[in-house]
Amino acid sequence: MKAIYTFGNGQAEGRADMKDLLGGKGANLAEMNLIGVPVPPGFTITTEICTLYNQKGREAVVEMIKDDVMKSVAHIEKLTGNKFNDPSNPQLVSVRSGAPVSMPGMMDTVLNLGINDEVAETLAKKSGNPRFAWDSYRRFVQMYGDVVLGMKPTNKTDIDPFEAIIEELKEKKGVKFDTELDVDDLKELVVRFKAAVKENTGKDFPTDAYDQLWGAIYAVFDSWNNDRAILYRRMNQIPEEYGTAVNVQAMVYGNMGNNSATGVCFSRDAGTGENLFNGEYLINAQGEDVVAGVRTPQQIMTEGSRRWAAMQGISEEERAAKYPSLEESMPECAKQLVDIQQKLEEHYRDMQDMEFTIQDGKLWLLQTRNGKRTGAAMVKIAMDLLREGAIDEKTVIKRMEPGKLDELLHPVFDKAAVKTAKVMAKGLPASPGAATGQIVFFADDAEEWASRKKKVIMVRLETSPEDLRGMSVAQGILTARGGMTSHAAVVARGMGKCCVSGAGEIKVDYKARTVEMGGKTYNEGDWISINGSTGEVYDGLVATVDADLSGDFAAVMNLAEKYSKMDVYTNADSPRDAKVARKLGAHGIGLCRTEHMFFEGDRIKAMREMIIAPDEASRRVALAKLLPLQRGDFEGIFEAMDGYEVTIRLLDPPLHEFVPHQLETMRELAEETGRTLEEVKLVCDGLEEFNPMLGHRGCRLGNTYPEITEMQARAIIEAALNMQAKGIVVKPKIMVPLIGVKNEIQMQADIINRVAQEVFAERGETVAYKVGTMIEIPRAALVADQIAQVVDFFSFGTNDLTQMTFGYSRDDAGKFLAIYKNLGILKVDPFQVLDQEGVGQLVEMACRKGRATKPELNLGICGEHGGEPSSVKFCASLNMNYVSCSPYRVPIARLAAAQAAVEAE
Ligand code: ADP
Ligand code: MG
Ligand code: MG
Repeated sequence: MKAIYTFGNGQAEGRADMKDLLGGKGANLAEMNLIGVPVPPGFTITTEICTLYNQKGREAVVEMIKDDVMKSVAHIEKLTGNKFNDPSNPQLVSVRSGAPVSMPGMMDTVLNLGINDEVAETLAKKSGNPRFAWDSYRRFVQMYGDVVLGMKPTNKTDIDPFEAIIEELKEKKGVKFDTELDVDDLKELVVRFKAAVKENTGKDFPTDAYDQLWGAIYAVFDSWNNDRAILYRRMNQIPEEYGTAVNVQAMVYGNMGNNSATGVCFSRDAGTGENLFNGEYLINAQGEDVVAGVRTPQQIMTEGSRRWAAMQGISEEERAAKYPSLEESMPECAKQLVDIQQKLEEHYRDMQDMEFTIQDGKLWLLQTRNGKRTGAAMVKIAMDLLREGAIDEKTVIKRMEPGKLDELLHPVFDKAAVKTAKVMAKGLPASPGAATGQIVFFADDAEEWASRKKKVIMVRLETSPEDLRGMSVAQGILTARGGMTSHAAVVARGMGKCCVSGAGEIKVDYKARTVEMGGKTYNEGDWISINGSTGEVYDGLVATVDADLSGDFAAVMNLAEKYSKMDVYTNADSPRDAKVARKLGAHGIGLCRTEHMFFEGDRIKAMREMIIAPDEASRRVALAKLLPLQRGDFEGIFEAMDGYEVTIRLLDPPLHEFVPHQLETMRELAEETGRTLEEVKLVCDGLEEFNPMLGHRGCRLGNTYPEITEMQARAIIEAALNMQAKGIVVKPKIMVPLIGVKNEIQMQADIINRVAQEVFAERGETVAYKVGTMIEIPRAALVADQIAQVVDFFSFGTNDLTQMTFGYSRDDAGKFLAIYKNLGILKVDPFQVLDQEGVGQLVEMACRKGRATKPELNLGICGEHGGEPSSVKFCASLNMNYVSCSPYRVPIARLAAAQAAVEAE
């Protein structure tokens, strides 16, 4: 087994495609050498050695790689002409961790390793710059103390012991920046740092370069299993067995004086995607100084520097004098850097995020990788690269992170405005976007205020179906309770409405109509802004700008269309939702929930009248009132979906959800229906169930009250005929929920078909329609072959299917799912990401059994998972006809479907 790969001077044993073995950093350091980019020489100990280290222990591994390490150090010495561990001609190195996937801030790097008192003196003499020597030394003791000797503070609020010493000294000297400390100060720091180490660890600071080197190597390997790293891997689903590589590399010094510098740069703008090379640097600095914010970093390009100064309110004179660009301060290096970033981007064919250091006027690259970027930048950069001929269409599709498209669909806060906004509370980023409005606490107030053209944000402990109308007119929703799949979150995402949920620290007082957060009490009518992309709640009004869906976004969507083999439908309950989804590329409705329609306006009254009806006859009277309302709704939806399929689900929720819960409303209902309060109360109470989700709902309603199914089937067929008469192409699909037994669907299908024939006979016209079922009860999946005999289509209701397969109540799981994720019992929330291992087996079985009975059986999914990329890909792998998701997730699903097709090739 080859343990170590060397690089340097234009040669390398590794390559860019060896990330698994060399880590991302090591693989790219090798590759940069191969393409002629100046990189200090070094070597990479492989991730395999890390795995062995964890299995066999330290001694076994040292025994194994000791000779190789010595040889590789000699390789560095040969190329630099210096000697490691030799005070007369010292070579210092950095020891850098680097996993196959980036784990920012999880593992550590030590710079200037190999230094001690004697070496520092030599460096001071040779460079003629004692400040540089002692600055390097104090940095080393600090980093080594933190990373290797375990002196890094474990608590977020604790200050680094070394920083505390620096602060104390700076205060004593009355200076602000560490560049203002002189050589004697730096010497004092080294002495005090070492004393702190001794005090803390009981041991002297190691002076031998090899002792230091092995200590750092162990520390990097050990860091793979520190708590932070383990948690990070769990959260990001990074396999435990990957391991980290260790990079040992000759130091180059950005802290060697005013002709030296260090910086980071991007080949394009990571925020907007603009093709503008940009970055920041600091003169006479090292390593992370730029990102750590010890001094104000300067811009690399003059154009960027001017933009920056304008935003900061700095005059051109002051900028040029105090904050010149690299182009201005070191024009030769800047020119070289511009060429190198171009070369790297052309080589990797993607936007690069790079680190560089300038030592005494010579430029060195220390890292390059594909840069992280926003959703907008992701789309623009990929399309620009396609137009530039750097990548092909399929690569554009593969490069997209579908979930990130979400960011592009919602109005956004003005970036500058957010920077100055005051954060009052933080919750979950439940539904992305930006919203600004006046606080209201109740749905009816939201409606009333909105009707007066006021912008409102609904602030609630939590929301329920009764709040729907209020939510739909609000700019955004803020709740104190509930997770990412809470009612508020799901509905808000469906509406494409900004929502922050579960902001536990806010105190809502419905009675006083106040909400307290961040130490301030807000009254109804006070202005706040919420950021559904970050979960932040801001004080007052923060400016927003509209999202732009044309241009590159549209172009990416067209590519998705071109390569995708599976269709994308939407879950929409109203013509407005249907239109939005259609604009976003939905090719049909996969789920139209009829019950939402019953909450609107006066309709709930007719619905309640139907529910409390004492017998079939009076129930039919109430249903007759609902019929035209439903028919009207369906007409609107058919019209909006002209030419596309519309799947309408029959009544699903338990009736108890529709009846009044307050005495006041019960009294009203009694008056309206001419019954006594006691009678009404008795019916309502009687509908209460111990397990409503497993109770009298779904097709169980339609089979016990067939007249409900009759009314709904009639409303659908009549609406279809009416619209067809107007020249609209209607394709109705009638979907029966909660089937578990073949006879259940048989009875429902018989009713639907009978009613359809009746309507056809009355009208003397017909329309083609389909009857299908949801597969959402595990038993339905098990007997899918029987059920397929009765229906034209299956639609997987994976919300209920997940609920029933896991035995987790969707409404109560919030309490333990977060803990389960932290403990690693579950990797993800199965209500967000389809559990392919378990629930997926049922889905696969139902597809297989269903199509065995009926090869032309139409298959789709309509749970929340229909808009989640990995779940969409799973559906594609089962050759489903479509996935259906909420309107604003349609583009995400389209892209995931296209990726599935391209990846399957
Ligand atoms: P991270 O993975 O946290 O970015 P790095 O290993 O890239 O850590 O190193 C941290 C900082 O130190 C970076 O700014 C990097 O450029 C710098 N650095 C690393 N090795 C050297 C070196 N041999 N010479 C000069 N600077 C280095
Ligand atoms: Mg780095
Ligand atoms: Mg269901």
